[in-house]
Amino acid sequence: MSGPLISMSAVTRSYGSPPTVALRHVDLEVERGEMLAIVGPSGSGKSTLLNLMGTLDRPSSGDIRIAGHDTGAMNDAELSALRAYTIGFVFQQYHLAEGVSALDNVATGLLYTGVPLRERRARATVALERVGLAARARHRPRELSGGERQRVAIARAVVGEPPLILADEPTGALDTRSGAGVVSILAELNAAGTTVVVITHDPQVAERMPRQVAIRDGELVGDSRPDAAPGFADRLVGAAS
Ligand code: ADP
Repeated sequence: MSGPLISMSAVTRSYGSPPTVALRHVDLEVERGEMLAIVGPSGSGKSTLLNLMGTLDRPSSGDIRIAGHDTGAMNDAELSALRAYTIGFVFQQYHLAEGVSALDNVATGLLYTGVPLRERRARATVALERVGLAARARHRPRELSGGERQRVAIARAVVGEPPLILADEPTGALDTRSGAGVVSILAELNAAGTTVVVITHDPQVAERMPRQVAIRDGELVGDSRPDAAPGFADRLVGAAS
């Protein structure tokens, strides 16, 4: 499918009454195959932006297209299906189930796709190999280090081979070395074709990404891809033909 993987146009999100504006008139496009960091201080709107990109939340106004789908025209069941096949989520606190093995934690990433258990486990094994944790498949989360837990969470996010990974402060709970390992795995996934969006307030993490988008007080205030304005892709296609 052609066109950007994520396209946000004039997106505003406000909460409550009188409204607190968390995100103001944001235009942002992410092309297939990109890897970018969204950087900004606490409270600047990063999580709000990621939740909107991930269709976990709806904008107060503006349009969001994911993989060509106009999310504003979709009901909650349709958005759930879009998420299940298109987006893998990674969170700061891993969100792993404590009572089950790394393998079964990863296999839950396929629960909503109707894949039978045997195949879920087979594919989970492959996903754990991708993050270098095949030897830890039978371990429970509490038997793993923070960096290993986050790698299990990444394996769960990619087991369904979604085109997009959204990561909210994936290194926020890790020491520098484990965090660097997590960023390396995300970079490998990106090199293999997955589009990766990472929220971070850590400049060292951000500078390892090919593109940085800066947000402050709910507004985009910087983009290291200066030609990333809406319509950029159209102009590229126009220039190439
Ligand atoms: P960040 O991820 O950069 O720390 P957030 O997106 O979490 O920022 O928050 C941006 C702003 O929106 C903050 O002022 C925050 O207090 C406000 N906000 C976020 N979520 C809610 C909510 N559910 N209700 C009210 N205000 C919210």
